[in-house]
Amino acid sequence: MTRPSQALVDLNALRHNYGLCQTLAPHSQNIAVIKANAYGHGTLPVAKALAPEVPAFAIACTEEALDLRAGGIEQPLLLLEGFFQAEELALAEEHNFWLMIENAEQVATIVAAKLKHPLTVWLKVDTGMHRLGAAITDTPKLYQQLMASPNVAKPVVMATHLACADELDKEMTLNQIHDLESLTARYEAPLSIANSPGLLGWPQARREWNRPGYMLYGDSPFQGSHSEADKLQPVMSFQSAVISLRHIDEGETVGYGATWRAEKPSTIATIPVGYGDGYPRNAPSGTPVMVAGQRASLAGRVSMDLITLDVTGLNSVRIGSPVELWGKNLRVSEVASHANTIGYELLTRMPARLRRVYQD
Ligand SMILES: *Cc1c(COP(=O)(O)O)cnc(C)c1O
Repeated sequence: MTRPSQALVDLNALRHNYGLCQTLAPHSQNIAVIKANAYGHGTLPVAKALAPEVPAFAIACTEEALDLRAGGIEQPLLLLEGFFQAEELALAEEHNFWLMIENAEQVATIVAAKLKHPLTVWLKVDTGMHRLGAAITDTPKLYQQLMASPNVAKPVVMATHLACADELDKEMTLNQIHDLESLTARYEAPLSIANSPGLLGWPQARREWNRPGYMLYGDSPFQGSHSEADKLQPVMSFQSAVISLRHIDEGETVGYGATWRAEKPSTIATIPVGYGDGYPRNAPSGTPVMVAGQRASLAGRVSMDLITLDVTGLNSVRIGSPVELWGKNLRVSEVASHANTIGYELLTRMPARLRRVYQD
């Protein structure tokens, strides 16, 4: 038997989730965001599964885009962080990379470049996130420079990024949408606003181009239940199996630091998954784990290659019983909340060590 730990990636669930984007925003072009190794799921298999349906993919940077081209992906690729050096413009021209840009230096570099074909450029506007994006007052000038340049394909998409679309009671999202709309009212520019929570939760954010990422992988970006997000299907099942079982007496401890103490005679199951496989080390005792279809809980510290679970009183747990760290029966965001983080982080930092197995 080989080590039973793996991430099973359900490509039909991925396609289902992309289909939900299309259903919610049938008049938009929905770009699939597959940066950071497709949020840990594996860039190329994810891109190939979605390629027949998507108009374009989005990634962070030229390096990620070149990997996709090397893997045979032919869709336009939107670079969400634009370009960092002038030399990247030649690559963008050669490979049809679209550039999301945000400052006067980038505009000047594009206008001054010697190119044979115009580049597709999106201009990002800062409507309150204050991370990337041109200031609203600077935008008209940058937009006009781009529109006047033969190096720039028309139209130029105007984009912004929402700061708290996952909090459905916050007014800021409507203010951000309003600010972009009033800024661009005079232009005939296509708009791009929505990330996953924008697309799912804010109909006003669904514009010519949407940029869903996290929702494609099947977890809701919202805290509570949500009529649309609850239709998503988890794509990754982080799976393993019980490899050892033991009974310990009341008062005995488990794991490094002896931090978990049995309050009664207990049954401990050991699973060959640890922080070296992407399970968060700061998940505390009590974090849920599925064992043989039942909820068990982490007992003691997470090791590099192993975790230990309290399975006292659970039915039919034996060596070989299946374990799900997160997946169809336990949301990654629920595990993440125990570990003081978000599902996005747990997924994107999954290491290469953990085998990905693709199910079509
Ligand atoms: C990552 C990213 C997205 C996707 O966000 P999700 O919340 O994963 O849907 C959209 N737009 C930009 C600019 C991004 O960086």
